[in-house]
Amino acid sequence: MVKQSIALTAVLGLLLFGMPLQGLSAPAVEESDPPVEKTDSPLPAFDGEKTLRVEIGGAVVELRLSDYLTGVVAAEMPASFEMEALKAQTVAARTYTLYQMAHGSAGKHESGADLCDDPGCCQAYLGEEALRQNWGEAAEENLLKILAAERETDGMAILYGGEPILAAFHSSSADGTEDAAAAWSSSVPYLSRVESPEGEESVPNYRVSVRFTAEEFRALFAAAYPAGKLTGSCGSWVGDITRDASGYVTTLRVGDQTLRGVELRRMLSLRSACFEVAVRDDVLTFTTRGYGHGVGMSQYGANVLAAEGKTWEEILRWYYSGVSIEQYTQ
Ligand SMILES: [Zn+2]
Repeated sequence: MVKQSIALTAVLGLLLFGMPLQGLSAPAVEESDPPVEKTDSPLPAFDGEKTLRVEIGGAVVELRLSDYLTGVVAAEMPASFEMEALKAQTVAARTYTLYQMAHGSAGKHESGADLCDDPGCCQAYLGEEALRQNWGEAAEENLLKILAAERETDGMAILYGGEPILAAFHSSSADGTEDAAAAWSSSVPYLSRVESPEGEESVPNYRVSVRFTAEEFRALFAAAYPAGKLTGSCGSWVGDITRDASGYVTTLRVGDQTLRGVELRRMLSLRSACFEVAVRDDVLTFTTRGYGHGVGMSQYGANVLAAEGKTWEEILRWYYSGVSIEQYTQ
C-alpha cells in the first residue's frame, strides 16, 4: 500500500496537471525520482485516453479527460466528502462532459473549446496551483482520494436511451430537487423532482438572508423590468407567491409584473429560488434555503446518502430518474 501510494504520488503531477499540451505526446510515466514502475501505469483506460479542449482562464488547452475530471471534482465538491459521494460526482461530471461534447458544445464557446471553467456555463475547474493553495498540507491526500474515485469509476456514465445525459448538479436542494421544467422551462425526462435528504443540520449556510432597502430593490427591479411599476408601500410590492412541492417559488407578483421564481432569483442574485420574503422598516429581507438551481444531483444530498450507506450508483439513480449506469466507450 505504501509503495503504491509513493508511485501514485510520483506521477500525480503528470497525471493530473502535467503541462497539458506537451503532456499529450509525453509518456504517461517518465523516468523520475523516485522511479515509477512502468508496468503499473495508473492511467485509467478510458479517461486516460480521451482528450478534450478546455478553456481555462481564457486560454484553450488540450487535456486528458482524467486530468480534466480531477480539476472539476476538486473544484465542485469538498474532498472531505464521503468516497461514494465523490464517485457519484465524478461520474456526473464525466457524463456532463460527454454530453456537452456529443451536443456540439464547442459551438457555444468563441474559442471553439469543448468546455470552459466557468461554472455558470460548464463546470468549475481548478488547476494544480489553486488546489494546492486551497488544500495546503492535505493536497496529496485529497488528490489521491479524488484520483481513486476516478479510477474506480473509469469510463462509467449515466445513460438515458443509450446516450450520456445532461447530468446537472447543484450544491444543496430545498425540500427536494427542482424539476427541469420549472427551472429551465424545458422538461427533461430524467431531471424530475425527487426527495433529497439534506437540511440545516448537514449543510453549512443552508438558510441565508439577504437584505435590500426599498430603493435598492426598486433600482434592481427597474434595471431588469423597465416597463414594470412599483406603487404604494414596499410592503405590498411582492406577493401572490406560489411554490412547487420542493418549496421553490414557481411564480410571484412584483409590482404589476408576474415573475417566475428563477427570474427573481436572477434579479437579486439569490442563492436559490426557494425563498421567503419579509418586509420591515423599508427593508425587504429574502431568506433562501439551499444553494443552486436545484436540478439533478444535490451534492450535499449525495453526501448524506453516502453516509447512510448508499453506493455511488444508488446515489445517481436516486437523483436521475429512469437512467442506466454503464461503461460508455465512444
Ligand atoms: Zn462553457
